[in-house]
Amino acid sequence: MNRNTYYNNRPYGRSYHKKPEKPKVEIDFNDKDWKDKVKKPKADTRTKTSDVLNTKGCEFEGFNLSRPLLMGIFEKGFERPSPIQEAAIPCILMGKSILARAKNGTGKTGAFSIPCLHLVDPKKQHIQVLVLLPTRELALQTANVLKSLGKYLDLDDKIVTSTGGTDLKSDIIRLKRDVRIVVGTPGRLQDLAKKRDAHAQHAPLNIDNCNMIVLDEADKLLSTDFLPAVTALLEYTPKDRQLLLFSATFPSTIKSFKDQWLKECETINLMDELTLKGVSQYYAYVDESEKVHCLYALFRKLTINQCIIFCNSVNRVELLCTKVTRLGFPCYYIHGQMGQKHRNRVFHNFRQANSNCRTLICTDIFTRGIDIQNLNVVINFDFPRSANTYLHRIGRSGRFGHMGLAINFITNADRYNLCAIETHLNTEVAAIPKEIDASLY
Ligand code: AMP
Repeated sequence: MNRNTYYNNRPYGRSYHKKPEKPKVEIDFNDKDWKDKVKKPKADTRTKTSDVLNTKGCEFEGFNLSRPLLMGIFEKGFERPSPIQEAAIPCILMGKSILARAKNGTGKTGAFSIPCLHLVDPKKQHIQVLVLLPTRELALQTANVLKSLGKYLDLDDKIVTSTGGTDLKSDIIRLKRDVRIVVGTPGRLQDLAKKRDAHAQHAPLNIDNCNMIVLDEADKLLSTDFLPAVTALLEYTPKDRQLLLFSATFPSTIKSFKDQWLKECETINLMDELTLKGVSQYYAYVDESEKVHCLYALFRKLTINQCIIFCNSVNRVELLCTKVTRLGFPCYYIHGQMGQKHRNRVFHNFRQANSNCRTLICTDIFTRGIDIQNLNVVINFDFPRSANTYLHRIGRSGRFGHMGLAINFITNADRYNLCAIETHLNTEVAAIPKEIDASLY
């Protein structure tokens, strides 16, 4: 079947055809037994680490959130706020700007999505929240979290995702509707925020009255690649906007940004000593020519739910995928030179985790924020060059305090880099033992 046949034969035809509307479920939010009626997902009984368990004992009900929002939260399976949520939600609800640092996978998305959803005023028909992320996949993932948490707030079609690599015209059309929350990548949003010509009253993206701006993965957004677009977007927003910065790492570049844009803000830092908790890190000392063989041995030995393998170049990703598939282990791959639709499809299929294809090989495009709960093993087929990249790659396992395993293939040339990263992160990567205790991941 060629590509066009595939799209034409899909149940709803091409993507611009409207999907049939789902029947609305009427829910009585005044019902005193509302909590019992929430359809919660199956409880997750896996062991969790202290970085999500060390809470002060707050409850979501204690934040004075609306009942429809609470329903969305419980239905998503969030029973109690995680430490970053306990710290950030009240500050944001009080209208404060924040600079929040917490480990990957400890609930940062919920920490800003929940108060943002609460603060959206249904009577105001303009964009009220702008969420910026460094990659397209992260933008889609975050918009989905906002939509599911806000399921009962009637906001579904008022949350718009806009990223590079997609059709600009369809973004312009969608932004003409009644939009309250925009989630996207800085370059595309900057294009949309510019006025088309001198006579145009408004640009397609009108954020003149947008009072809440979120920068998730803020360290990346404030790097030289993104900073010009981010600051250009901030210039369009009101001076008294609330700015929310979230990241696992806060390099020194953040200081000058803070001095200019965040004079008054609350700083939340939950990262002391918590960086890689729950993730067991090992290295295998190998020759370049032995890497594939070593991978094969790992596949046979480990109990892998889902696994990501990182390579340092697009070519190596494709080559490794061919080799691994030939060895009898089917896998997906993703890199930045693939078309966006193709990337989305692979990401979606891998997330579903219901096929026998449980391995994804990728470049660093996937290091940040991507949340796949079942992922328990990360393999650095090629060792990363910086401590920051290492931290973000490893953070793909051990989500929400679960245990995870990180295995690094180290060649002779990587030795010094491994030492430097261990020192930088104040962590220890041990030599891989003959048997890895299954309870570690
Ligand atoms: P994040 O750090 O936002 O990417 O979240 C990591 C994972 O933790 C996601 O799969 C979330 O669904 C999950 N999560 C976030 N907050 C909570 C919570 N309060 N209770 C249970 N799971 C949560």
